[in-house]
Amino acid sequence: MVTIADIVTEIAAEMRDVSERGTVASYIPPLAEVSPDKFGIAVVMADGAVHVAGNADEAFSIQSISKVFALTQSLGAVGDQLWLRVGREPSGSAFNSIVQLETEQGIPRNPFINAGAIVLCDVLLGRYEPREAIGQMLRFVRMLAGDDAGSITIDDAVAHAEQDTGFRNMALANYMRAFGNIRAPVERVLGVYFHFCALAMSCRELAMAGRYLMDGGRVDGHSVVTASRARRINALMMSCGHYDNSGDFAFRVGLPGKSGVGGGILSVVPGVASIAVWSPGLNASGNSQLGTLALERLVQRTGWSVFEPR
Ligand code: GLU
Repeated sequence: MVTIADIVTEIAAEMRDVSERGTVASYIPPLAEVSPDKFGIAVVMADGAVHVAGNADEAFSIQSISKVFALTQSLGAVGDQLWLRVGREPSGSAFNSIVQLETEQGIPRNPFINAGAIVLCDVLLGRYEPREAIGQMLRFVRMLAGDDAGSITIDDAVAHAEQDTGFRNMALANYMRAFGNIRAPVERVLGVYFHFCALAMSCRELAMAGRYLMDGGRVDGHSVVTASRARRINALMMSCGHYDNSGDFAFRVGLPGKSGVGGGILSVVPGVASIAVWSPGLNASGNSQLGTLALERLVQRTGWSVFEPR
C-alpha cells in the first residue's frame, strides 16, 4: 500500500525535475537571494505523524502566510468587531492593489491582502505597543508550532529591507488613514506589519503551526480558538488566501490555503492534515509555482479535498 510518507517523498523527487519553476520575488531584496532550486514539503497528520521531504527543515520567509496568524490574533483582541474594518470577500486583484480602497471607503476587501493585514496590525496596536505586538506574535507562532527551543525567528534583515522598499504598503496605509481606517501612526503600523511578514520558519514548523486550523481550533488537545473561528479562518483561506488566484487554487487543490511571496503555502485538510510547502519561484499572481503543483499532486494521490466525501 502506498503511504502518505511515500507520496510526500515521491512528490519531492518529482519537483526536482520540473523546469518551469516560476520567478523568485525581487522587490524585497533578501528574497531575491534564495535559490529557485529549493523545494520542501511537510505534512503533519491529525494523529501527530509528521512526513517531510526536500528542504523541509530550512527556514524561509513566510511573508503573507503570517496574515493567518495576524487574523487569529486580531480576532482574539476585538472579536467580530474586526469585520467593521475589514471585509470578507475575495479581491480579484493583486496582493498590493490600492484600487478597491477608493470605492470601498478605505475598507480592505479581506484580511489576506496587504491592505487588510495592515488594518489587522492597526487593530493590534489599539491594544499593544509595537514591540509587544511583535513579541506576542512570535510567542504565539512558537506556541502553535510547539517550538520550545525558539528556533522560529523574525528576520530583521528582511523586515528592514521591507521598510526601505515598501512604498506601496506605505501608500496603502496612508490612503486608509485618510478614511480613518488606520488610527495609529503609519510608521508604527507598518513596522509591525513588516516584522510579521519577516517571520522565518521551516515547512516542518509551519505545518506544525497550522495544526489548530486542522483540528477545530485545538493544539495538543488545548483550545487556541473556538471551532467556529477556526472554520471561518479556513473559509477565508479558501476564498481569499491566494489573491486573484484564489479561485484557481480552490479549483486545482480544493483546500484552504495561504501563500506568501517567499514561496511558502500553508494548507489544511480539516480533521486530517496540516501541510506546508515551499519553493521560492512564483507564478504570475505571486504564489509558489512548485508549491501549488506539489499540493495539486498531493490531493490527487490522497483524495484530500473539502469538496469530496471522505
Ligand atoms: N511583505 C510582502 C508585502 O508586503 C508580503 C506579500 C506577500 O507575501 O504576498 O508586499
